Amino acid sequence: MVSRRLIAVFGVLLLCVSVLTAQTSTAKPKPHVIVVGVNGMEWDMLRPLLLKGDLPNLAKVIDQGVHGKLRTVSMPNCPRVYSTMFTSTNPEEHGVTGFLVGGVTANTNMLKEEPIWSILSKNNVTVGMANVPATFPVMPVNGYMISGMLTRGKNCEDGVLCAPKLSEVEGGDAVYPKSLQPELLSNVGDFYIDCERMPAAADLKGHEADVINTWLAKVQLIRDQQTKLFDYLLSNHPTDFTFMVQSCEDRTGHWLYPITPFNVGYNPAISSVRQSAFPDQYIGFDKVLGTILKHVDENTYLFIVSDHGIKPLREFEETDPHAHMDHEKTTPVIAKHDFADGDDVPGSIIAMGPGIKHDMRLMGFEASVYDVAPTILHIYSIEQPKQMRGHVLTQIFEEPEKKVALKK
Ligand SMILES: [Zn+2]
Repeated sequence: MVSRRLIAVFGVLLLCVSVLTAQTSTAKPKPHVIVVGVNGMEWDMLRPLLLKGDLPNLAKVIDQGVHGKLRTVSMPNCPRVYSTMFTSTNPEEHGVTGFLVGGVTANTNMLKEEPIWSILSKNNVTVGMANVPATFPVMPVNGYMISGMLTRGKNCEDGVLCAPKLSEVEGGDAVYPKSLQPELLSNVGDFYIDCERMPAAADLKGHEADVINTWLAKVQLIRDQQTKLFDYLLSNHPTDFTFMVQSCEDRTGHWLYPITPFNVGYNPAISSVRQSAFPDQYIGFDKVLGTILKHVDENTYLFIVSDHGIKPLREFEETDPHAHMDHEKTTPVIAKHDFADGDDVPGSIIAMGPGIKHDMRLMGFEASVYDVAPTILHIYSIEQPKQMRGHVLTQIFEEPEKKVALKK
């Protein structure tokens, strides 16, 4: 796996040389693709909000594109599924099987299959990535990379579901190239890299309303910082391919999903404080999407994807079902996604762009997390590597036979 990493580094270096030498030739502009990841985006939450008109930006994208469920892997969680999306290989093949692999927090050195950012970089596509889970320590790309979930640092030593500040990252680089870090610190600020850690049961007891309100205020602060970061990068460092991810929605759903007394884990002291806390996250996301849409013109492909959904507890577990294996263990968790059958918690896909059909719904499991990378490579007319298990989502394009990248 070290050799693959070295090959990737070497490939990027070669690429830099070739970019410099090719500047005099009349290079054709590359397609513009923006992927927005929303961890654990759940259609059960989105649909009522869409019906009520509370997600105007998302509604616009759905209307102008295709949307549907995105089949995920078994026992889905963020690092496991995002690494599957990056490589279109299964977790056993790419090596990032969960938050911890052999007792060590998942990191990019474990990735055994080539990720899409490396393939695009080698093909002269400029790449920008921000807050994408399981991208720490950052890897060299033909552009920039800012790590996301699983970044380690002060108050987040294990990197699992917590939020170090950019200036307090430890154990590796969170920004590539290094020169971008001081620029971000002065223009965007010392932002939190991941979402806030969830509170423990003992912290909540007797202080439920205070803890919930303080926690949600921090989540909004993090979202505001991310919005500023995304806007800054899209304005000042535009790239052909951009991949940006939010993770506070999932974190909120785990312990503040709007459940009823029928559900497992119902505790009125918690559940009655902010019934709309979880749906409000999607209203917050819709505003972030509005900022991103300012950078989307009629020649831009926009993909909004989630790695899995999230549902109230529904299975017997060996350990305390109210605690979560991955989320600081003592949080009174009432909703989850790492169920044995990934089809219980599908992710989502919403896509629009030149040549993509309008107002089309993908039924059943027509699309899977394995198909994201091949479909993006197709847009750039890059042949799908043999190890990739997914396929191009040809049904979403008006003219699937045509190489969409050559249309303009
Ligand atoms: Zn989660």
